[in-house]
Amino acid sequence: MNDQISTRLAAVRQKMTEWQVDGLLITSPANYRWLSGFTGSACTLLVTAERAFLGTDFRYWEQARQQAPHFELVKMGRTADLTSLPQMIQQAGVNVVGVEGNQMSIIQFRELENKLQNDEKADPVALEPLKETVEVLRHIKSTAELDAIRRAAAITDWAMSQVNEIVRPGISERAVAWELEKMMRERGADGMAFEVIVASGPNAALAHHRPSERPIQAGDSIVVDMGARLNGYHSDLTRSFYVGAEPDEQFQKVYGLVLEAQTAALEGIRAGLTGKQADALARDVITAAGHADDFGHSLGHGVGLYIHEGPNLSVLNEEALPVGAVVTVEPGVYLPNWGGVRIEDLVLITETGIEFLSHCPKEPVIRY
Ligand code: ZN
Ligand code: ZN
Repeated sequence: MNDQISTRLAAVRQKMTEWQVDGLLITSPANYRWLSGFTGSACTLLVTAERAFLGTDFRYWEQARQQAPHFELVKMGRTADLTSLPQMIQQAGVNVVGVEGNQMSIIQFRELENKLQNDEKADPVALEPLKETVEVLRHIKSTAELDAIRRAAAITDWAMSQVNEIVRPGISERAVAWELEKMMRERGADGMAFEVIVASGPNAALAHHRPSERPIQAGDSIVVDMGARLNGYHSDLTRSFYVGAEPDEQFQKVYGLVLEAQTAALEGIRAGLTGKQADALARDVITAAGHADDFGHSLGHGVGLYIHEGPNLSVLNEEALPVGAVVTVEPGVYLPNWGGVRIEDLVLITETGIEFLSHCPKEPVIRY
C-alpha cells in the first residue's frame, strides 16, 4: 500500500472541513492522479470522511484496482455521461458535495444537481462549486515528484546545450524545434511538456510564437523555450541566443537587462514571499530601465503534473510561496519589429531560498 496516498487523503479530508463539504468529487486528471495514483483517462473520485470511491469504465477496471488500492472501485457504464454518478453519491451518504468549479461544465453541474435534488427515493444532496480543491495541495512536491521533475529538467538541459550545434544561418525554426524534440525523446522523455518554441528575429517578440519555416539569419535574436514530460511530470526552460560572434548593441542591452532582472529574482525568492512580491523582484528592474510595457507576462508559474499550475509568481497572487513548491523564473523583454529575450529557470523553493532544478549554462552567443 502506498502510504503517500493515505497522507494525501488525510490532507484532503482536513480541507473538506474547511470548505464545509462532507463529500468531494474530483474529475480533473492531475487531481485524481495525485490523490488516487490512477493514471487512466477517465475517472471520477468521490471522497467522504470515511470512504473513498473511484468510478471508471470497463477499459480501466483492472488498472484502477492495481493503481488505486485505497479506493473502492465503482464500475461505471460510460464515465463521461454522469449517469451512474448520482447513485454513487447517494450510496456515500453525504449532504453537501464539493465539485471542482474550474473543471465541471455548467451543463454537467445543472444535470447532476437536478438529479440529486429531485430523486424522490433519496434525500436531497447539495452541490457546492469550489474555486480550488486538490490543486492547492499539489503545490508542495514530494520526493518522488521532485525526482521525476529533476530527470525531466536534466533531459531539457542537455537538449538546450545542443542549440549552438544545431543553429546555423539558413536552418528553419521548425527544423531546429524538431531536432530538439528528437533529442529529448532519445534521452528518455515520454513526450514534450508543450510544443517546442523556437522564435527567431522579429518572431522572438511574440512570447508564444509557433516555430515557422522562417530561415534563421545572422544577427537574429532567438528564443528557445521547451520542456520534457516524464512520468506525468514536466520541466520548463528558456534560453535566448544571438546568432553571430559579436552581439549587437541592442541585443547586449536587452539581454543584460533580462539577466539582471532574473538574477535579482533568483537571489531574492524565498518561502513566505507572496507571488506578487516575487514577481516584483524582477519587474522592478525592468520597469526602472523603462521597459515596463515590454514585460507583459508574469514572472513565473508552478510546474508539476501540469506545465502551468500554481503557485504563480504574478501580481495577482497574494498567497505566500510554500517550501517545496517548484516554480519557473522567467522574465522577458519583447520589442515589436526587433525581437525579444526571455531567460527561464526551474527552481525549488527551499527553507533558505531556492535550489536550481535546471542547470543549463547561460551562454547566449552562437558562433558558427
Ligand atoms: Zn517555458
Ligand atoms: Zn514557463
